[in-house]
Amino acid sequence: MTQQQDTRTIIIGAGMAGILAAIKLLEQGKTNFCVYEKADRIGGTWRDNTYPGLTCDVPSHSYTYSFEPNPNWTRTMPPGAEIQAYFENVVEKYGLAPYLRFGEEVTRLDFIDGRWQLQTISGRRDEADFVVAATGVLHHPRLPNINGMERFKGELFHSARWDHSVPLDGKRIAVVGTGSTGVQIVSALAGRASHLCHYQRSPQWIMPVINTPFSEEERAAWRRDPALLKRLQHDPELEANIERFSVAITEPDSEAMQQIEMIVQQNLEQSVRDPALREKLRPNYRAACKRLIYADTFYEAVQRDNVEVVIEDVTQIEETGIRSPNGELREFDIIVLATGFQADRFMRPMTITGRNGNTLENAWAQRPTAYMAVSIPDFPNLFMLNGPNGPVGNFSLIEIAEQQWHYIQQLMDKVEQGECREICASETALAQFDEARIAAAKRSIFGSGCQSWYLDAQGVPATWPWSRSHFKACMQRPDFSAYEQH
Ligand code: NAP
Repeated sequence: MTQQQDTRTIIIGAGMAGILAAIKLLEQGKTNFCVYEKADRIGGTWRDNTYPGLTCDVPSHSYTYSFEPNPNWTRTMPPGAEIQAYFENVVEKYGLAPYLRFGEEVTRLDFIDGRWQLQTISGRRDEADFVVAATGVLHHPRLPNINGMERFKGELFHSARWDHSVPLDGKRIAVVGTGSTGVQIVSALAGRASHLCHYQRSPQWIMPVINTPFSEEERAAWRRDPALLKRLQHDPELEANIERFSVAITEPDSEAMQQIEMIVQQNLEQSVRDPALREKLRPNYRAACKRLIYADTFYEAVQRDNVEVVIEDVTQIEETGIRSPNGELREFDIIVLATGFQADRFMRPMTITGRNGNTLENAWAQRPTAYMAVSIPDFPNLFMLNGPNGPVGNFSLIEIAEQQWHYIQQLMDKVEQGECREICASETALAQFDEARIAAAKRSIFGSGCQSWYLDAQGVPATWPWSRSHFKACMQRPDFSAYEQH
């Protein structure tokens, strides 16, 4: 390749990370790219999830692109619909429409003669020098294999496939699952259902939050003074809290973790009045082992007279409701499965074949893995945003994606500046990274003895096991000795 060659980039996914990648390319004056999106509009997780009560548990001004502050957020924690509207506005403002291809699920990617050949479900073909996989993590609903599910005569749907044609008020509703989703749905529907039953296989620790509305005066002040808004985005107190949280999860015996444990225990003791219900709701694993749940009205909701908490695995659904293992049948009009997602899918079910005929299925036979969460050996010039082993937790994934882009850009530069044609992590670098990562992950709070979507098929936490500041430092500049360049 010649110096500063006009390369072509394919971005897969028009969610938060894909939009970011597109904007960053345009910022560099690059227009030779295309964003393939399987759905009919942008937004990723915020398009798919529309359930009642949907709220981001990361503060609004942090869950915002660093370069596009938003003076219009209405609350400390933004409602899902506002986030979707934010991304739609950003797409419009940056003129991304001509680069977006909707309804084009990518089915194949083949690395042939130094370029990626792409095929979509509609038969469209494309080829490019780079692929940026921004496919997200939680996009394939996990439907539990419950006996008799198909026989239920009422309405039954997954939380990420909410059927808005179904009336909710005065109905008998079952919510299965007590992750962040189930907790938010129960909080939102408790006052609307005639009877709501929350099936919790494993109760959760609940971190109290106050989701304060912002006043019109505050928003007007942010519109007038962008510097004020910038300061909010980088609020030092919030930054310190996030860093402290990341230390807590990586060092389970730290003072920071003891503090979290104390807060959630106090929350349970002080918020739940009935001792029997309090014991039902007490988890038998450590706080933050599963993703910590932030909720303001959940304990209030489950203490209402029309709400029942049932601690059990749902195994049997019948025509009219859910049958418990003790034989009791509870009848419902609606069953909501807030049962989570297949978190190990990433770009799959795409068929991806890299160098030497190596397939992604083969590369990920044991577990999804990527050097620095970005690059896979034998898959040159293909980079992931929010791929496997990246930081996940109770902080903004926008910030993580921005840091990853900064890193990926430097890998792409190597090719664009003619230093090589192909770049990807070496086998050795990935093996060393994985060894250190897995050892640290097992020591993290996520590996302290609970079941969660953070664990891979071998029971090892799949997440970035070091602090947030270490991640930031790693993303500053790639260690090019870890990369094979041809
Ligand atoms: P999740 O955390 O994976 O929770 C799934 C729930 O379903 C668990 O409580 C699980 O129980 C339960 N479950 C599965 N099968 C069951 C069965 N047969 N019977 C009874 N219970 C069953 O899924 P999620 O709540 O959708 O959340 C996934 C992630 O999405 C979150 O961790 C978070 O990263 C993200 N999210 C974020 C926000 C936010 O505010 N930012 C909101 C929603 C979601 P076990 O625990 O026993 O397995």
